[in-house]
Amino acid sequence: MLKWIDTRSEQEIATAARALYSSAFPDAPEPAGVWAAPGRVNLIGEHIDYAGGASIPFALEQNTAVAVAPRSDGLIRIASEYDGSIAHAEAPLADVRSGYPADWSGYVAGTIWAATAAGALHCTGLDIAIVSDVPVGSGLSSSAALECSVAVAAYELSHGHVPDDAARAQLAQACIRAENEVVGASTGGLDQNASLLGQRGKALFLDFSTGAVERVPFNIEAQDMVLLIADTNAPHTLSDGQYASRRGIIDAVQSAAGCSIREIPNAVDFAATVDPAEAELYRHRVRHVVEETNRTLDAATALASSDLDTFRRLMRESHISLRELYEVTTPELDSAFTAAGELGARMTGGGFGGAVIALIPQSSVESTAQAIHDAAVSRSFPEPTFLVARPGEGARRLS
Ligand code: ADP
Ligand code: MG
Repeated sequence: MLKWIDTRSEQEIATAARALYSSAFPDAPEPAGVWAAPGRVNLIGEHIDYAGGASIPFALEQNTAVAVAPRSDGLIRIASEYDGSIAHAEAPLADVRSGYPADWSGYVAGTIWAATAAGALHCTGLDIAIVSDVPVGSGLSSSAALECSVAVAAYELSHGHVPDDAARAQLAQACIRAENEVVGASTGGLDQNASLLGQRGKALFLDFSTGAVERVPFNIEAQDMVLLIADTNAPHTLSDGQYASRRGIIDAVQSAAGCSIREIPNAVDFAATVDPAEAELYRHRVRHVVEETNRTLDAATALASSDLDTFRRLMRESHISLRELYEVTTPELDSAFTAAGELGARMTGGGFGGAVIALIPQSSVESTAQAIHDAAVSRSFPEPTFLVARPGEGARRLS
């Protein structure tokens, strides 16, 4: 039997967040509102947001919802229905700094700290209850969903109106800073931009060298195609040094050149000179970045002309590059990629576990999911779980 990932309606998740709020903070006044931010799926453009590259993600219909009320004593109190139980945390806003709080609450408190420091909002404390249906640690960015839901809530409570695109761009920077400095995960900006700027029915073209954001129609149903997500359920962590080691090489090359990989002429040859003892490794990593950037630009052109054949071929090439050159796939991801038939398939997210996506005909969803499932089970991998993903709304108020 195939297992499908549950999705809650906006109303269900808002009601659940309010209910958690009431039980977690019985002494507090009613929440001022409920806000939500989605996870995201990245269609192409992987591991290049920190290298002046480009990505084409869309916001998922799965959300993290936060019921929030302001406080006046500088305290952040948080309750999250997470991992089968309710987790609680508390931090005085004045104590938040690089590396503190060190646990999951760093995503929340860090976002408010960074947004306040950037002058994006004013906050004197919050009570926050969190409920989510974004799969955690699956490369679908539950971390950005958490940061961005808190960011839009704190913004609206501070300003009395919803953030426009310029304010969202500023909040995205604060969320990135929270994840980089407070949590210590060196993610590059793709996730937060997708969660804050996504729109129903649209994919995003994010160009990290210019900061340009374009919302592009993602109307694959017109061609009877769908996007299947297969979560391998193999555990992944981005903070265990693997992600940072990939990024470390790219940062070293960019710092030696004084510009982004995208702007370095003959970047692959240049990379080999940065650390001659590791020349081959540096070449491979930078070749992925250069080629993945070109693939993503080509994919944007293909999407604009509804050329899904080309788009699917580029997705396949992306996975192969992430496997051979960037070395961030796992046996579980490679198994799902092969079982999905390769064309239109690729791993998504940072890798080292997480999910594979497949852009496939509507009529082959069941058979593709079954093939991915059977391949996993035959190798004694965890049972994958599935989702048909459609572009949903970016961070917003629910009630
Ligand atoms: P991904 O963003 O791909 O899901 P990450 O490792 O970047 O994976 O982020 C997952 C981490 O984010 C979790 O381990 C947890 O610390 C935190 N997190 C995400 N969602 C929640 C939530 N609803 N409640 C508490 N912590 C969460
Ligand atoms: Mg994340």
